[in-house]
Amino acid sequence: MTSKLRTLRDELNMQFKEREDEIAGSLLALISGEHVLFIGPPGTAKSMLAKDMCNSIDGGTFFYYLLTRFTTPDEIFGPLSLSSLQSDIFSRKVDGYLPTANVSFLDEIFKSNSSILNSLLTILNERKYHNGSAILDVPLFTVFGASNELPEENESLEALYDRFLFRYYVEYVQDESNFVDLITSSQDGFEPSVKLTIDDLCCMKERSADMLMDGDVVDALVALRREFRNTGVIVSDRRWKKIVQVLRVASCALDRKSVDRTMLMLLQHMMWKRPEELATLRKLLLDVAVSGGIDLERSEKDLDDLHASAVLIKDYVLPQPVTCVLCEKQFHRWKELKEHASHNPDHYYILPDGPEHYQLSAVRTSPRHLPNLVEKFASMGKPVTLTMPREQRDLYLGEVEEFEDTLHLLEIDLQAERASLVEKLNENIWLSNKDREDLLDHYDAKTRSMNGMKRMLDDTKNIVVSEDPQTN
Ligand SMILES: [Zn+2]
Repeated sequence: MTSKLRTLRDELNMQFKEREDEIAGSLLALISGEHVLFIGPPGTAKSMLAKDMCNSIDGGTFFYYLLTRFTTPDEIFGPLSLSSLQSDIFSRKVDGYLPTANVSFLDEIFKSNSSILNSLLTILNERKYHNGSAILDVPLFTVFGASNELPEENESLEALYDRFLFRYYVEYVQDESNFVDLITSSQDGFEPSVKLTIDDLCCMKERSADMLMDGDVVDALVALRREFRNTGVIVSDRRWKKIVQVLRVASCALDRKSVDRTMLMLLQHMMWKRPEELATLRKLLLDVAVSGGIDLERSEKDLDDLHASAVLIKDYVLPQPVTCVLCEKQFHRWKELKEHASHNPDHYYILPDGPEHYQLSAVRTSPRHLPNLVEKFASMGKPVTLTMPREQRDLYLGEVEEFEDTLHLLEIDLQAERASLVEKLNENIWLSNKDREDLLDHYDAKTRSMNGMKRMLDDTKNIVVSEDPQTN
């Protein structure tokens, strides 16, 4: 089944450029028994795509219709049966119409008027058709709907919109070479080398019923629901339930043992209401799909602390506080004082027991020649040097070495985690290449953190071992 789906996906991708998401989603919708909506400007091959999706099914019955505001129930559900009418029974001859179709394509679906909407909603939702007094079980798997625009504000049309779990905003082909292919190739007569059978479509939903959900996937769904609520997006419980079902089918079709985080990317095609929500949604899902796993945060924090403390120790504490005579600012640390002096080369300083003034720079910049503060400290037996005492240095070097070991082990784990992610992504036929690239790039924030930590550790080591040249 996986290889069949993969072949179909690849052949459809050859036929339709830049429609990876729509194609994978349509196949998934077919085997999950969900409906698919294509929204976008006219001339984006929405109808062609929907028709070729139907062509990918062997032995099914199809029903195509282009709706207008004036479409009547007869055109969609079948003409009234005259013989029944003669015996005062209201009944339609449904053969060959929507109530007997396995797969249907309804173009301009939001043109549906009130005379067909109720029956249409019941078919989409309950797979039932009320034919006069009889209630028919409808053999429908998937309706592909297409529309140039979102439905107008109208309760019934909103309800119809809500029935479509998969939604795609279909844009014009972007890439120029794909555009050239599109306008020069003949698009007719697509015949895939393999086809899905009606049995294929039936069995996946049942087979996937026991599919386990990874614990972190459930956590992620709860977190996502919270996030949506915070931003005012309310998703119905029914929709969440359907989404989970689709994730199960998607994993089952790949022969997975459970639903893993990377599957969460599929939510980008099931959660938006307005196209402008898409970018934010995708960003959110990328974050969620790669979060968890190895946590570098704690090591990062520990390393930050070690680095900061090494920097601090190397910052020579002055034997006495030094005050700038001109600014009256007091300094306790050598680096601070030196920084001040470099910005204000003509300032001079005084020690607490005064009254003598000192200068810091070796070059005489002040009009008076003042004794040098560095020499004064040296004469006090407290020379200014940023070399760490040996014991302290050994202590730090010990810590640095320990960190080197920790980072080394973390890096091995990280490489394994990444390799397993790459494998999962490559096996996942439901994701587009762009999804794979973006997910990996998101994951690589960890790789970049690891590289940053390695640089910081080197830097820490340098601080510890380096001996400052005489600093005056
Ligand atoms: Zn000053």
